[in-house]
Parts: sequence; structure tokens; C-alpha cells
Amino acid sequence: MNQIRNHKKAIVIGSGIAGISSAIRLKMKGYEVQVYEKNSYPGGKLSSFKTGNYRFDAGPSLFTMPALVDELFEIAHKNPRDYYDYVKHNKSCHYFWDDGTRLEADSNIALLSAKVSKTFNTSIGVIEKKLKKASVINETIGSLFLEQSLHQIKNFLNFKTIKAIFKINSLDIHKTLHKTNVEDLKHPKLVQMFDRYATYNGSNPYKTPGIMGIIPHYEHNIGTFFPLKGMNSITTSLVKLAEDIGVEFVYDSQVEEILVDDKNKNVKGIIVKGEQILSDVVFSNMDVYFTYLKLLPKIKFPRKTLSQERSSSAIIFYWGIKKEFTELDLHNIFFTNDYKEEFDCIFNKQTICNDPTVYVNISSKLANDDAPQGCENWFVMVNVPANVGQNWDDLIITTKKNIITKLNKQLNVNLEDYLENEKILDPRTIESKTFSFQGSLYGTASNSKFSAFLRHPNFKKSIKGLYFVGGSVHPGGGIPLCLLSAKIATDHVK
Ligand SMILES: Cc1cc2nc3c(=O)[nH]c(=O)nc-3n(C[C@H](O)[C@H](O)[C@H](O)COP(=O)(O)OP(=O)(O)OC[C@H]3O[C@@H](n4cnc5c(N)ncnc54)[C@H](O)[C@@H]3O)c2cc1C
Repeated sequence: MNQIRNHKKAIVIGSGIAGISSAIRLKMKGYEVQVYEKNSYPGGKLSSFKTGNYRFDAGPSLFTMPALVDELFEIAHKNPRDYYDYVKHNKSCHYFWDDGTRLEADSNIALLSAKVSKTFNTSIGVIEKKLKKASVINETIGSLFLEQSLHQIKNFLNFKTIKAIFKINSLDIHKTLHKTNVEDLKHPKLVQMFDRYATYNGSNPYKTPGIMGIIPHYEHNIGTFFPLKGMNSITTSLVKLAEDIGVEFVYDSQVEEILVDDKNKNVKGIIVKGEQILSDVVFSNMDVYFTYLKLLPKIKFPRKTLSQERSSSAIIFYWGIKKEFTELDLHNIFFTNDYKEEFDCIFNKQTICNDPTVYVNISSKLANDDAPQGCENWFVMVNVPANVGQNWDDLIITTKKNIITKLNKQLNVNLEDYLENEKILDPRTIESKTFSFQGSLYGTASNSKFSAFLRHPNFKKSIKGLYFVGGSVHPGGGIPLCLLSAKIATDHVK
């Protein structure tokens, strides 16, 4: 035991986006803050790497709600534009179907609506109505479910919340997202486009409630953005901000235990590399499942909360491609012919179907330095089940073959002629790199109407000073929600 301290001290375990943003917020509350990270680099899933002359963002590729990142600079009295910058992208996605249908979806709602009506022969106004509905869901329950704890009675005792609870029945909570989309949109391809939003939190559109119709609000009514130096610049600029205000990052340091007092009532610090480091507050950005399993051996494992179904995982092929494709944009989706079967495979059969939906992200379309001239950096992702011991080596071989066949047909090429280099990420490596239980991308799935209430809270009532942030706890996974988890948890710190 060591240290005589003038300031209250906070330790953050893990430098994922929620860990870094918690550190900034704690520092601005007057804490001395240390972040311990097991890897030699920050960011967890939100990191990047280079292979040959290609740069790749390892995980997230879609940036929404940038105001939540900017807010961290603002509370630290810094200008975010001195650290990083982003642009609003004018296209939301290029969609491809095997029958030759294509839709270059604009982010501008009027343009999108006109294209949708022309492509699918639907009446004008369908898209506007759907996005208005998304906006109403956001206005009614967005702040209730996402911006505050669901585990404090006081948060339910105000007029806005009570009004929202009364209105909740009208927000499609009792139907599945798929059913809601069929009712609202009718055309099967349009339904498929809006069903896909379930995958933004690793869920199944045939199970997740219709209230998830909130997700397109963020993509279309607010917009999608692109950080000029790639997604990883969110991590690097936040780490720079944290260091500028005095947060200390300690890399290559895996936390082994969270220390609690003899009565299991107060947090006392951590053990790292066999050494005890004392602190007043501990924030765990490690997946909450592993936090209990590995770091809190003396504390009862909350089995019910932690046995919720996990979100989907992913296989990503990072390909250096020696060719430019004018028909592709930053975000591209090649849909399966059988979406129901795809989700059945992921969530019920726990395997990958032979015709998966393929997402191709090409950051070099906007960040030219990410690939050599005349080339493109392809991030090729399919959604897959969480890791329960499947034969991933075999699944990767089959899936790669299926993806290449699908893309060759759509793009009328032989992709293998242009494939210069390759790296692969799968559920096993996602788990080992970031300690995410079963390699799931977003913690637990939202496959029931009670999911939001079943996520682990951002604090532990019985242990003072212990907090949980990141994609595995309230309010959920994805960059914006992870940032909100840090806000909710730090607001709770006295
Ligand atoms: C392939 C992929 C695509 C995605 N796409 C998107 C997208 O387009 N948009 C989006 O918003 N979100 C996306 N996500 C989800 C998003 O990346 C995550 O929700 C978010 O980054 C998780 O952040 P986190 O704070 O929970 O921490 P994580 O990123 O999970 O990081 C946790 C950190 O803690 C460290 N750690 C764990 N245990 C210890 C320990 N004991 N001691 C020290 N350090 C420890 C880990 O090494 C890691 O650095 C995607 C994720 C993946 C993997």
C-alpha cells in the first residue's frame, strides 16, 4: 500500500471510448485520474492499424451524434476543432440487391424520399412519415432510456418520464421491428433496409421491439459523419485531450483485481502487476461479465443480469484492393436474399448462412491517404453469432468464398485479382483483444422489450465507489451510447 494523496483519486480500467471519456469527466470533477490499459494502444474496439500502405479502422465505421464527442472538449474548455474535425456525409449508404436493384441513399431526406419512391414505386411521403415517427420515439423516450440511469427511482418521478411511460404503448413496443417496418413501409426491400437498423446494436429485427425504430432518427434526421482522419482520430484526439488536462494512461497493464474493503461495501483500488494501487473511485470499462468473473472474485456474480443473450459479433476481412470502384461509396451494403434465414442462423443456429448480408466500408473514399493512389482499403464485414466455440477457421473459409462470389457477381469483377493484402478479425480475436465476452460487439442484445431494463446499471449500489461504463452496461453499445454511459456514471459520482 502506498501513496499520500492531495486529491481524490479515480482509476479507470480500460481505455475504450467509455473509459477515455469517463477519465476526462472525472478529471474535470477534480479527481486525479489514471487509466490502466492492457493493450499497448488506447481505444479498444475503436482503434486502427496499418498493413502495407493501407490504413484501416479496426472496428466502428459509422459515426453518429458527434456532438457527444465535442461535448467532452467543451467541458474541458477546449475547442474540439483544435483536436479533430469531421464532415457530414451527403450519402447515407449504397444498397445492392442480387436482382440488380441498387439505391444510392442520400442523407438529405427529400432526395432520399424521391429516390426511394422511384426505385420501389412507393408513394411519396413514406420515408418522411417513417423518419418523423423515429423522431417522435426519440423525443418521447430518447432521454428517458439513454441519458439517465434506469436504476434510480428519482429518475422516474418527473412529468416528462411519467408522460413517456404512458405513451410507450403507442411506440410499437409490443410489435417487432420487422412487423412495424412491414406495416409502415410495405415494400420488402424498403423493409429490409429499415430492418437492418437492428444490427446497429447487434440485435435481431424479428425479435427486437419496434421502438428500435428510433435508430434511423440518428442516421437520417441528425446525419452520419466522417472524421477527416478516420474513426481512430476520435480515440487519438480524446486521449490527447485527456493527457492535456492531466490524465495519466498506463499501457501494457492488465488489471488483475478490484479491491474492496472487508465488508464488501467500499471500493479501495486495484491490483495490477501484483501491486496494489489505492483509489477512492474505480470505473470498470472492461466488459461487465469479465469484470465480475475476473476482477471481483469475492463478489456474488449477478447471474440473472449477466446471462442475458449476447449481441451479435462479426467477421471482418480487411482487404487492400488494387482498384477503384466508382459505384461504391463510404458505406455499402450487399443484401442477402433471405434476411430471416440470416438472423435465424446468427441467433438460433449460431452459425453463418451461405448468403450473408455484406457491409463494405471504404474510408479511402474520403480519407485519400488511407490507401495508395488507384487503390482502396476495404473493410468487409458480416454479422455473425457470438463466440460459443464454433469452428471459426472453417466458417471463415466458407464465408470468404461466399462473400467473394456475391461481390464478384454484383460488381462484375474477379476480386481475387485485385486483393493485395488481407487481415481478418473474428469473434475469438475480438474477445482476446478487448476482453468482450464471447466477442459480442454491443454487450447484450436487445431482443426483448425488457432488454433496456435488464442491462447492468452504471454503478453498484452495494459497493460505494465502483462504477461500470461501456458497451456492456446501460444504456448499451455503439460509440454514442458508450459516451452516454460515461456521462451517466460520472454524474453519479459525488
Ligand atoms: C467490428 C466492429 C464494428 C463496429 N461498428 C460500429 C459502428 O459503426 N458505430 C458504432 O457506434 N459502434 C460500432 N461498434 C461498437 C463500438 O465499437 C463499441 O460499442 C465501443 O467502441 C465499445 O467501447 P467500450 O468503451 O465499451 O470499450 P471497448 O472498446 O470494448 O474497450 C475496452 C478496453 O478495456 C481494456 N481492458 C479490458 N479489460 C482490461 C483489464 N482487466 N485491464 C486493463 N484493460 C482492460 C481492453 O483492452 C480495451 O481497450 C463496432 C464494434 C466492432 C468490434
